[in-house]
Amino acid sequence: ETLDKGLEKSKSSFFGKLSKAVAGKSKVDDDVLDDLEEVLVSSDVGVNTTLKVIERIEARVAKDKYLGTDELNTILREEIASLLSETNLGEETDFIIPQDKKPYVIMVVGVNGVGKTTTIGKLAYQFKKQGLKVVLGAADTFRAAAIDQLQVWADRVDIPIVKQSMGSDPASVAFDTLKSAVTQNADVVIIDTAGRLHNKVNLMNELTKVKRVMQKVVDNTPNDVLLVLDGSTGQNAFEQAKQFTAATEVTSLAVTKLDGTAKGGVVIGISDQLKIPVKYIGVGEGIEDLQVFNKFEFVDSFFK
Ligand code: GDP
Repeated sequence: ETLDKGLEKSKSSFFGKLSKAVAGKSKVDDDVLDDLEEVLVSSDVGVNTTLKVIERIEARVAKDKYLGTDELNTILREEIASLLSETNLGEETDFIIPQDKKPYVIMVVGVNGVGKTTTIGKLAYQFKKQGLKVVLGAADTFRAAAIDQLQVWADRVDIPIVKQSMGSDPASVAFDTLKSAVTQNADVVIIDTAGRLHNKVNLMNELTKVKRVMQKVVDNTPNDVLLVLDGSTGQNAFEQAKQFTAATEVTSLAVTKLDGTAKGGVVIGISDQLKIPVKYIGVGEGIEDLQVFNKFEFVDSFFK
């Protein structure tokens, strides 16, 4: 129900537009398909993914000769679910950390302002709630505010944070954080990293170095490279995702600010185009406002 509430705006706008597009028409024809295309694009599903969906529906119309607009919901729902299923995650409903990796290290990347710090705080809260020992690492050393903000969350969740002064080497902070986590026998480490995109080579070098140094302390870390994207920025989020995936290997996504936006469709386009699983969605500013992304619930919330 929280998910429904959080995505209310995406849902109502998607639904509103869709019903308008088919109002007074009984069968799916070229006009309906054109309108549907517009609805999907304006819901920020993205042009490529929209075309893919339209093609699939066209194929069904061609095959069955006739498709009633009353069936469009069901078919769209199936096609979108099948697109989301091509990424191999999104079936979990709980915050889960693999038991066999200790500490489990999550490196968080993303541009400033997308909700990176907030997402880290919310995640830490969820893990701590399960009784796991969590340590934060403030490796976004470029801005003093980033370190301060992470400290605020560490205090709020009541967990340790490893930090150095502003301008220090992010890799050195990551190294210290992992050392400290190992000493404390921590279960989960969440490392914040720099949110600058202005220089791709610098970003790439920095993230590569942070990873290399982590591996000196714990083999095969980070276990997850989580890219945080602001869902309310629509296609911009998609562009950022492309740049980050070019700079480092991103293994999962968190899409924030899906409350109060009509752009929830961006989740569909991003998973389809990048084939990176969306793991978490942010649906508010509060500590509880992070959810494990479940593709079935998501599609349902669009089409209920
Ligand atoms: P960072 O610069 O990427 O670390 O961004 P912050 O975590 O500081 O977040 C920037 C702003 O976005 C803050 O005002 C947050 O409260 C807000 N924010 C983060 N996640 C969400 C979300 O899921 N929904 C809403 N409405 N606001 C969010």
